[in-house]
Amino acid sequence: MKRALIYFIKLALVLTVVIWIANRPGTVSVDWIGYRLETTVGVLFLGAVALAVSAAFIYRFWRSMINAPALFGQARQDNRKKRGYKALTHGMVAVAAGEAQTAMAMARKAEALLSDEPPLTMLLSAQASQLQGNEEAATNYFTAMLESKETKFLGLRGLLMQAQRRGDLKIALELARQAHALSPKTPWVLESLFELSEATGDFASADQALKEGAKTKVLSNADAGRKRAVVKLEQALSAGDKDQEQEALTHAKEAYKLAPDLVPAVTFLAGTYGRLGKTKDAEKALRKAWSKQPHRDLARAYVALWPAESAVERVRRLGQMVSKNPDHYESHIALAEANLSAKLWGEARRYLKLASEESGPSRLVCRLMGRLETEEHGDTRAAAEWFEKAETALIAHNWVCSSCGAIADSWQAHCGDCRSFDTLSWKRPTVLREEKALEVNNQKPTSAPPVLLEHTGEHEVIITKPTAIEGAARDVGA
Ligand SMILES: [Zn+2]
Repeated sequence: MKRALIYFIKLALVLTVVIWIANRPGTVSVDWIGYRLETTVGVLFLGAVALAVSAAFIYRFWRSMINAPALFGQARQDNRKKRGYKALTHGMVAVAAGEAQTAMAMARKAEALLSDEPPLTMLLSAQASQLQGNEEAATNYFTAMLESKETKFLGLRGLLMQAQRRGDLKIALELARQAHALSPKTPWVLESLFELSEATGDFASADQALKEGAKTKVLSNADAGRKRAVVKLEQALSAGDKDQEQEALTHAKEAYKLAPDLVPAVTFLAGTYGRLGKTKDAEKALRKAWSKQPHRDLARAYVALWPAESAVERVRRLGQMVSKNPDHYESHIALAEANLSAKLWGEARRYLKLASEESGPSRLVCRLMGRLETEEHGDTRAAAEWFEKAETALIAHNWVCSSCGAIADSWQAHCGDCRSFDTLSWKRPTVLREEKALEVNNQKPTSAPPVLLEHTGEHEVIITKPTAIEGAARDVGA
């Protein structure tokens, strides 16, 4: 539209000039070096215009003759680039499909065609080398990528992944830190920084990465809070190992604040309070935790606060503690064990019965019943029956890895089997790995239920006086 308008304006100007000249007829006479030219103004004007147009045409022709080689070269270069990008794309697809040879061939082709843009082809060459199993060549490409601003981040990622695969966590952490400096909000950078810091024992750095993860929404607040609590607990445990009680207490308090339901954090905090003579604080934390999530480790930590107390006094103490959650299985177990140790047989039997009401006697209940039969009546035959029953009874609860299903004796930050972080939770292990494998193979387990083929837990007795039966109970459990 704009162009048409300009064209019409130009046309109008030319017509105006032509009409203006046509309306003013006249002749022109030129005398020049012995020649005489006589003509009308109109013809002279047309002649001048024709001369100008010819000059412009000749000028353009001359310019295009001069530029021809350069234009030809440009076209050739464009064509090379086009073929180079095509090879690059083809190579990337081959990498994704795991076709090592094609990927390498395309990488070489792209390298040759895009020789003036090496950063573009280096990643493909590195990946193709990795596919061919040539890690050394890949390292060289990734290292070369660090030289260019555009590819430095990708180069760092490649080197970091190589270091992780080699198990060189310290170097991987250093690379993660460099990547973090370049791009502090990238999710994989924050995740790597956290995992590597935590794995190498740099808990402060791991905590910082989690905080940044929450701030940049890479992690939800709840997820970051829980992970931070576990890291704080690890810090507390590490300080405790070095007898740095105050530091351990500070970290344990933070862990407890971040995740009040993290049982090992509560028991560690209570133990530290206890050693520092802050029994009231320990009692408060344990009772609060019991009201939310009863757990036998809490009961054990609770009675340990008063080591000199008699067995009967401990029954009373535990009674106070479980009063916030009296109908829970763990409350019945805690009181059954306390009564057993206090030789209050009737009460012990009553609590064991209560513990069996929901889903029958668990493995632990069977063992405690065996102990009761022996200690109360010296009935070794009845005890043996209970111990036999324990073999096929269900485990009520245990530390189970949500990632691989492994069962652990005690809580740990990492699963002992698959090394996943913070995957152990206190629950009933319904499916075990052996069964999972059978399911995958579409085979039925060869023997009828006892669901639990493997286990380690439920052999702890909170308040004990060593007896032969207890030893037997432990052996059965182990
Ligand atoms: Zn696991």
